[in-house]
Amino acid sequence: MDRREFLKTIGIGIGGVACGDILTPSIVKAQNAFEVNEFFGVLVDTTRCIGCMRCEMACAEAHNLPLPDISNDSVFEKKRNTTETRWTVVNRYETEKGKIFVKQQCMHCNQPACVAACLVKAMKKRKEAHVTWDTNCIGCRLCMVSCPFDMPKFEYNSPFPKIQKCNLCWDRFQEGKLPACVEACPVEALKFGARRDILDEANSRIFQNPHNYVHRVYGGHEVGGTSYIYLSAVPFEQIGFRGDLGTTPYPEFTTGFLYAVPFVFVLWPLILLGMNRATRREED
Ligand code: SF4
Ligand code: SF4
Repeated sequence: MDRREFLKTIGIGIGGVACGDILTPSIVKAQNAFEVNEFFGVLVDTTRCIGCMRCEMACAEAHNLPLPDISNDSVFEKKRNTTETRWTVVNRYETEKGKIFVKQQCMHCNQPACVAACLVKAMKKRKEAHVTWDTNCIGCRLCMVSCPFDMPKFEYNSPFPKIQKCNLCWDRFQEGKLPACVEACPVEALKFGARRDILDEANSRIFQNPHNYVHRVYGGHEVGGTSYIYLSAVPFEQIGFRGDLGTTPYPEFTTGFLYAVPFVFVLWPLILLGMNRATRREED
C-alpha cells in the first residue's frame, strides 16, 4: 500500500478518531471481528525477514526509546522479549528449514484481553485496530496478567510506573503515515493494510507457493483474530508462537475469571503494589 492509497483508505478512520470513537471493553466483548467495519493490520511474512532489525531501530526512533545496536548479531544468541523500552524485538530461531527471523510485538487483538481487564479503561481498542493506552493507567498490571502474548510491560524503574507496549504507531497513523517498522523494512517482510486485504494476501501467497509456507495464517483466528498476522515456512510452534491458544477471544476467559473472583479483582492491584514496594526496598 503506497502513501496515497493509505491516506485514502484511512480517511474514514481519521474521521472516527476525531469523534473520539473507541471500542470500550463492553463493546469489544460484545462484537466479533466480522461486525467491526474495518480493521487495519500488518502482515509479517517471516520467510522474507532477513533479521536486519531496522524495524527495531525505526520503532525506537519513532517513540523516543533507547536505540538498539543493530550491528551486533550476538543479540540473536538468546531469545529476547519486548520490554518497556523495546516495543518490538526480532528473534532468530533454528528450525528444520534453517534460520528464521521473527519480529514480535503486541498483536493488537481484535478482542483484546488487556482492554477487557483494564480497571480504569486506560487500555483502549480503537476501531481502526490499534490497542493504545492512556496516561490514566494506574499500574495495576491486570493487562499483563491477561495478555495471552505477554506483551504489556511495566516501568518498574519509573517513579510513576505505567504500562508500555507497541501502539501500532497510533500517532503516525493519524498523520497518514505507515507504522515506522513497516516503512523501515527493506525487504517488504512487513505489509500494512486493511486486515481483510492482508489476510487475502497471506492466503494468496500460500496458495501460489504452497511449498514455501505452512498452510496456516497465524492471527487469522487465534484468540478471535489479531491485527498482526504471520506467515511461516515451518510450524509456528517452532518460531516461538503459542499453539495452545484456540480461537475463543480471551476476554471471555479473563473477564469471566476476574469477575468470578472478586477477591482477586479488588485486591490484585494492592498486592502488586505491595510486592513492587517490597522489591524496591530490597533493591535500595
Ligand atoms: S497482544 Fe496482549 S497487549 Fe496486545 S492487544 Fe492482545 S491482549 Fe492486548
Ligand atoms: S526490518 Fe524487515 S527484514 Fe529487517 S528484521 Fe525487521 S521485519 Fe525483518
